Amino acid sequence: MPETEFQHVIFDMDGTLTRSGLDFDLMRREIGIEDGQSVWEAVQQLPPPARERAEAVVCRHEARDAAMCELQPYAAEVVRRLRAAGKVVSLMTRNSRVSVDVFIERHDIAFDLTRARCDGVVKPAPDPVLDLCAAAGVAPASTIAIGDYKYDLECANRAGAVSVLYYEHESPVPAWAAAAAHVVRDLRDFAELCGVSMR
Ligand SMILES: [Mg+2]
Repeated sequence: MPETEFQHVIFDMDGTLTRSGLDFDLMRREIGIEDGQSVWEAVQQLPPPARERAEAVVCRHEARDAAMCELQPYAAEVVRRLRAAGKVVSLMTRNSRVSVDVFIERHDIAFDLTRARCDGVVKPAPDPVLDLCAAAGVAPASTIAIGDYKYDLECANRAGAVSVLYYEHESPVPAWAAAAAHVVRDLRDFAELCGVSMR
């Protein structure tokens, strides 16, 4: 049994609830930014005319992925079961509000709270988790957050929430998995960590 009673559960969207097809290397090539740079941060550094063109490239990729991506196994069931168990369930993403709306509509998944890129400072800053905790009325220490990238873990850790890496691939987990309090390869195991049995 988990040591903590989690009242608030935060999900990343792309790659965690969805099988994301976002190709960040292709975005970098189309925009003309260097390898290894975070796309959105690099775009924000561009002067206004180039920045607007680059944002349009990002939004085009995101819109196409939101319209096409499939869910990870058990994603919808896990979200529904956690909400049915009385947890506050939030969605936290660096993606656009439009993509969030398309995702929710296409897959018919309801969340208590959502936080998109337009809502303020994005991951890896702690602000997204802190904002969602404030809106939920739940302390970060009673909050658990799952994501598939290091930014998700950094954001959760810096906010004082419990971080979980979702890593469905068969290859070894990345080095930054060490930052995660837990690693799961099946979202049903995440539900278990939240105190809800799915098996
Ligand atoms: Mg992700």
